[in-house]
Amino acid sequence: MVDPTLIDADNSITYDALVVGAGVIGPCVATALARKGKKVLIVERDWAMPDRIVGELMQPGGVRALRSLGMIQSINNIDAYPVTGYTVIFNGEKVDIPYPYKADVKPVEKLPDLVKDGNDKVLEDKTIHIKDYEEGERERGVAFVHGRFLNNLRNITAQEKNVTRLQGDVIEILKNEAKEVIGAKVNIDGRGKVDFKAHLTFVCDGIFSHFRRELSPEHVPTVGSSFVGMSLFDAKTPVPMHGHVILGTKHMPILVYQISPEETRILCAYNSPKLPGDIKTWMANNVQAYIPESLRPSFDKALAQGKFRSMPNSYLSARQNNVTGLCVIGDALNMRHPLGGGGMTVGLNDVVLLVEKIGDMDFSQREKILDELLDYHFQRKSYDSVINVLSIALYSLFAADNNNLRDLQRGCFKYFQRGGDCVKLPVEFLAGLMPNPFLLTRVFFAVVFYTIYLKFEERGFLGLPFALLEGIMILLTAIKVFTPYLLGELIG
Ligand SMILES: Cc1cc2nc3c(=O)[nH]c(=O)nc-3n(C[C@H](O)[C@H](O)[C@H](O)COP(=O)(O)OP(=O)(O)OC[C@H]3O[C@@H](n4cnc5c(N)ncnc54)[C@H](O)[C@@H]3O)c2cc1C
Repeated sequence: MVDPTLIDADNSITYDALVVGAGVIGPCVATALARKGKKVLIVERDWAMPDRIVGELMQPGGVRALRSLGMIQSINNIDAYPVTGYTVIFNGEKVDIPYPYKADVKPVEKLPDLVKDGNDKVLEDKTIHIKDYEEGERERGVAFVHGRFLNNLRNITAQEKNVTRLQGDVIEILKNEAKEVIGAKVNIDGRGKVDFKAHLTFVCDGIFSHFRRELSPEHVPTVGSSFVGMSLFDAKTPVPMHGHVILGTKHMPILVYQISPEETRILCAYNSPKLPGDIKTWMANNVQAYIPESLRPSFDKALAQGKFRSMPNSYLSARQNNVTGLCVIGDALNMRHPLGGGGMTVGLNDVVLLVEKIGDMDFSQREKILDELLDYHFQRKSYDSVINVLSIALYSLFAADNNNLRDLQRGCFKYFQRGGDCVKLPVEFLAGLMPNPFLLTRVFFAVVFYTIYLKFEERGFLGLPFALLEGIMILLTAIKVFTPYLLGELIG
């Protein structure tokens, strides 16, 4: 039985904003705009707590965006698990990479009207401690059960008096004769198909978005690989409070991170969008042997139970929001490989920038809003391109399927082992704290030249001609992996 207050939205008025989807991004857009005095309708097909294996580890850049929006307390009282950095394990050897010092990054911005009454600071609870998040010297990320986090975001939104929540399936984006967007048609249980009007319609319908194509029929993602996931219970992770990336020359990347005091997520990459016919056998033959010793008891138990979940890994570079009355945002606009755990961070920072640009404007002035949205596309590039390109480059290296990529994978690990700036900058990119694509390019090619140097060292004087040839091949491979994505992100 649906809560009656979720289906009685008024369709006789024109809302300032209509938000399609209450996943991670929709509630943040709705809350932010409501706090700016806008009248907002948010439509979600199912307000019940979702059960998904996506969006479970938030990088510090995402945590900071939640602070800017005055929504950081969404990580409270859900048994969220602090994340203090990453551990990369390569053929059994490991490197610890802690998140950056707060002193090395810009202070968090507080958005006017959004941040008030301490809502940019965490509360004390069983697992999240004020001392660590507010007074600790390093940036922190956080991991959680996705559905619990979403419930918190949605509850914050529900408290805003300018927000009306509606449960229903958006089936059409409405347009006028000039092809400008004027709202959405919603299929509501017990009410049927109802038209709702708004000055600005925000499409936040996520990874499987139906409405991203309103920007262009060509705005479709590519899917190159998948993740197969399991829940591990009472797992002993190699380094507590770290995300783990397990790499090796004989297997695909494996991600492991604790999402609550009891539960740990494992995601195993499979290099095709089509899953293996028999996942259990594939896991037993291609993953099990590479799981660190401390995780084996919980892994073996989960494998025996065989409760697998899977998700496609999609890539979609952003497109300019060039349709009057429409703003596509979140995964509907832009996706990257989930290996870097950057999706929520990009989306939340997009919301921060969006509010800065249009939060104080009158939404009925649709042409002025459109101008700002056109400009917004370019302003967000420095931030999202780093996270997107990094995720693709890392996946290509970590899922190496030829010798040059395998050399780069090893070179990358050896580069991290050098410590100092060789981990400081990469982790700043990963954490969403260094929006500088040119610096990313410099660091990527530093890894490439270090890999080539290792080749020369390994081959010795007599092997010089071989090393030279291999070096050229490595460089060409690296250019092929990196540059098309970088250019696509920066120029597109
Ligand atoms: C395997 C995997 C793992 C990931 N892990 C991480 C991670 O660890 N960290 C991270 O930061 N990111 C991660 N991501 C990415 C992250 O999940 C997304 O970036 C994030 O969820 C995007 O939020 P969103 O609001 O755009 O979309 P979503 O969170 O997908 O929300 C979309 C919402 O729209 C609703 N909806 C859809 N269509 C309609 C309709 N027609 N009418 C009404 N409602 C509708 C849906 O019900 C849903 O609630 C991962 C992605 C994948 C694939």
